[in-house]
Amino acid sequence: MKKILFLSLVGIALIIGLVGSVGATGKNQKQNQKIDLLENAKEVSPGVFYLGESMNKGKVVDGYAFVHYAKGSKSAARPKPVVDDTVDMYKLLFRGIKWADTMQYEVNTTGSRLEDSAVRTALSASLETWDTETSFELFNDDLVTTESDFNSGDRKNRVTWNDLGTGGTIAMNSFWFYRTTKEIVESDVVFNTQYNWSLSGESEKMDLQNIATHEFGHNGLADLYVSKSAELTMYGYSGYGETKKRTLGTGDISGIQALYGN
Ligand SMILES: [Zn+2]
Repeated sequence: MKKILFLSLVGIALIIGLVGSVGATGKNQKQNQKIDLLENAKEVSPGVFYLGESMNKGKVVDGYAFVHYAKGSKSAARPKPVVDDTVDMYKLLFRGIKWADTMQYEVNTTGSRLEDSAVRTALSASLETWDTETSFELFNDDLVTTESDFNSGDRKNRVTWNDLGTGGTIAMNSFWFYRTTKEIVESDVVFNTQYNWSLSGESEKMDLQNIATHEFGHNGLADLYVSKSAELTMYGYSGYGETKKRTLGTGDISGIQALYGN
């Protein structure tokens, strides 16, 4: 068994939806903790935030966050090239971090305001969408049920619903990996309770399978910002009722296969 000698970096990826949108439900789930990791973060380049450093087993740990701006803010003014999901582009997180073994998610659907088994079905579909493209079995198909809440750093891979505020953040992905070997050791997904979630692409709601497929792609793939990538699953923006990220585009498949084989 490998001993965890030290951890290097924690990365955080966020999807930001329609800023200032009407997505807020205005009701916080009492049992879900509020998360605001960017409160004291410093923007070091556009959309990239340094969260600070801390010590882990005697070594320095750095934290980073990736923020993806809403449609209509930064990139909307650019001319639109012709795009479709055959665009073959992808970006690896930190030049190639990945899992060495099949990873296991634990799910806590409290706060989703959806039926537990239906949520699990949608999440499993998102995982399988990636797994069918790779020779390596990246995700364990059986989702574990947990009562535990989001806890970045506990070496459990958790899917939870928490309050991520009303600033347009749909979901967040945070992950830990060894600087030396680039092996991922933890990956957590948080869906924002400030949005209403849908299992069927309803308008005015965020489609769970759509967003989950994107978030699960962060087990090695980074967000794409350029408008050419707008039809790909790893495109960094999403909107209400959107379902196009449920299926992978050419670049998404190229990216996951570059990490986990084809
Ligand atoms: Zn993302």
